[in-house]
Amino acid sequence: MSEHLNFIGGHWVPAQGGGTFVRRNPADSNDLIGVFPASTSADAESAVAAVKRASIDWARTDPQARAQVLEKAASLILTRLQSLAQELTREEGKIISAATQEWRRVAANLNFYAGEALRMRGETFPDAGNGIVCSIREPVGIVLAITPWNFPVSIPSRKIAPALVTGNGVIYKPSEVTPLAGQRLVEMLLEAGLPSGVIALVQGRGQDVGEALITAAAGGAVTFTGSYPTGCQIHRLAGPDKRLQLEMGGKNPCIVLEDADPVRAAEIITQGAFSLTGQACTANSRALIVGDIYEEVVRQIVERAKAFKIGNGLDPKVTMGPLANETQYRKVREMIEVGRSEGLKMAFPLAEPPPALPNDGYFVSPTIFVDVPRDSRLSREEIFGPVVCISRAESYAQAIDHANSVDYGLAASIVTRDLSRVLSFARDIEAGVIKVNSATVGVALSAPFGGIKHSSNQTYKEQAGHGVMDFYTRTKTVYLAS
Ligand code: NAD
Repeated sequence: MSEHLNFIGGHWVPAQGGGTFVRRNPADSNDLIGVFPASTSADAESAVAAVKRASIDWARTDPQARAQVLEKAASLILTRLQSLAQELTREEGKIISAATQEWRRVAANLNFYAGEALRMRGETFPDAGNGIVCSIREPVGIVLAITPWNFPVSIPSRKIAPALVTGNGVIYKPSEVTPLAGQRLVEMLLEAGLPSGVIALVQGRGQDVGEALITAAAGGAVTFTGSYPTGCQIHRLAGPDKRLQLEMGGKNPCIVLEDADPVRAAEIITQGAFSLTGQACTANSRALIVGDIYEEVVRQIVERAKAFKIGNGLDPKVTMGPLANETQYRKVREMIEVGRSEGLKMAFPLAEPPPALPNDGYFVSPTIFVDVPRDSRLSREEIFGPVVCISRAESYAQAIDHANSVDYGLAASIVTRDLSRVLSFARDIEAGVIKVNSATVGVALSAPFGGIKHSSNQTYKEQAGHGVMDFYTRTKTVYLAS
């Protein structure tokens, strides 16, 4: 049995309370991923204290030396890509091509932020007399990164890399659903030469250790990606002495206008709704179709849904993996049941709903509800599974009104050839990421990424090129006189 440890104060150690938890492959419960420490508040306090001590020297190192650690880790990832991707597929369930792409993105993120380290700038200001006023930048000190399981290495990498390269120490708590992926990222940073005290890896459930970490991380920055309810808890707990970045859920619409090519529209909606088994924060879980092309777009989406090959993502022919765990399975199944109990029409699948618990592997078919009214729970709540709700709209204005009627505002897309509608859409839609003639999923490496409304507290966008560096640094204003 593979037993894993926390990394605190430069050492691999068990949880102080001795607790452990087990992670299994969501496609095959006989495949044990490992046993991991179930950390508690004692581990949280040790981790924060150790990183605080080590971060003082790290802040004084040459930024180029810090950048080189990230670059070395990136090259280690690329040499081990295949085995890392296989392990990620076993642990999270995503298909092997998606797992490979994710680790590639991690390497790209590390290299990108290594470059950003050398582009940091300060400012000077006019002053009365002969003096100079300038701002200088320094690391915040410590950064606590709490991350979800759906992109278990790319999301942490775009938090940990800018934090480290600006001279902060990092306390990293991966999701309890993907502890091994988190561990691998830390191992490669250490192998690349990161001084060992500068990072702590703390495994465990959010309720058991996440809250204690937030309380312990006084004076530092907390960067969180996850669900809105957890984000609200963290916001309440953090208090005024911490920087806080909350990137949360979505209920992302795709609007199709009547001039669109129905085949193209169906491809875009299918990709947005079903890739990553619908477990992307930017997944397109609503489609609002204007005009007479409605039936044809639905027909085309159903054809594509039927073509998915569902199974263990290690098989390269499989195009849709399982949901990540039992909690996810129960949640998605419950939402399908809600749709059925509301009397909503299903265009696919036409068979019985998924069983209360599957025999093995948390597999759910791509699921298409049609004619979904805007007050349905399915239209309003994040499902986070391969379920798309399709609704009719009489006009562009009605589609926008429907799209904006939810609490979330992460991503949105429009399919049309009408440039004037595109320009209106960019103004009218309440979303932080706007796609035109492409799926809501998939974001650029260096472009700002984040939502509005319940999707984010908008404290610097999470993946934001140079802009994100502001979250990980603070400025002091210095008045110089002779
Ligand atoms: P989650 O909120 O359940 O957990 C996220 C992380 O928070 C985990 O590490 C968890 O252990 C920790 N946590 C849970 N309770 C905590 C608490 N009380 N205090 C401190 N930490 C706590 O989310 P999840 O199920 O891991 O991820 C899915 C959610 O993440 C979806 O809502 C999805 O939309 C969102 N997400 C958002 C983005 C984005 O960029 N906006 C990206 C990916 C995922």
